[in-house]
Amino acid sequence: MSTIAHNGTALVTGASSGIGAVYADRLARRGYDLILVARSGDKLKELAARITDETGRSVETLSADLTKTEDLARVEQVLRTDASITLLVNNAGVGATAPLLQSDIAKMESMVALNVTGPMRLTYAVAPAFVSRGTGTIINIASIVAIAPEVLNGVYGGSKAFILAFSQSLHHELADKGVRVQAVLPGATATDFWDAAGLPVSHLPSEIVMSATDMVEAALSGLDQGELVTIPALPNIADWNTFDTARLALGPNLSLAAPAARYSA
Ligand code: NAP
Repeated sequence: MSTIAHNGTALVTGASSGIGAVYADRLARRGYDLILVARSGDKLKELAARITDETGRSVETLSADLTKTEDLARVEQVLRTDASITLLVNNAGVGATAPLLQSDIAKMESMVALNVTGPMRLTYAVAPAFVSRGTGTIINIASIVAIAPEVLNGVYGGSKAFILAFSQSLHHELADKGVRVQAVLPGATATDFWDAAGLPVSHLPSEIVMSATDMVEAALSGLDQGELVTIPALPNIADWNTFDTARLALGPNLSLAAPAARYSA
């Protein structure tokens, strides 16, 4: 008989490869049953069989293209109605490395649909249930480009800045209602992401690339430590705290009746 606690069900998007597949594995080992979402149904089923075999956890798969309204609606329905769900991992996402003016606008729009609209809708579907039960966790996979938008394509950076700001706001509104929120800001991570984004990961200096396993294990450690924002590579947490404290210190002066003196004639 397993001695691992049963933690309810985790729904993980983008679980067919890379970071999402590692989350699926690690969450099962932490006692979660799983609902795995991505387009590649066969890859999901293969992963589900392996995880069930190795952990004994129940793993369902849900094949869905999260850029399509009707597919997204099916996942939203599960999040609204399955009372066993205790954790949502908004991980599915795509990136781009091309500069703005060399990027196809249709691809940019599709990226916003997957990286922004998807997590936003899935969060709206599950948050009321978490609030009514007084418990639940939402992990949002952002990126370091959320605070370093000059690094890759600007729409990708903007989409991840949305995820960071959305997570900070969710935490602000839901923490006292029993809902945990974590935004994870990975740096370069060795997954298929880079091929799809137009720059094979082998072209990056190895000293800036983390394995998906190390990234996810660090992020879960950050979750255990109660972090709202986890930057797996950042050596010194004081650097983030200084940055965030400076942001918060702007607060009282961001909205005033009079323009600043430097703007008067
Ligand atoms: P990945 O290996 O390419 O995984 C992306 C996942 O998203 C796959 O499971 C893919 O599955 C799914 N996906 C893609 N388009 C989808 C769609 N339209 N509908 C549903 N699912 C879709 O890349 P990854 O690195 O693990 O990326 C996971 C997350 O980490 C993303 O949000 C990414 O922005 C973020 N991130 C990655 C890095 C990095 O360096 N790798 C750094 C920072 C942040 P299907 O193709 O089967 O649908």
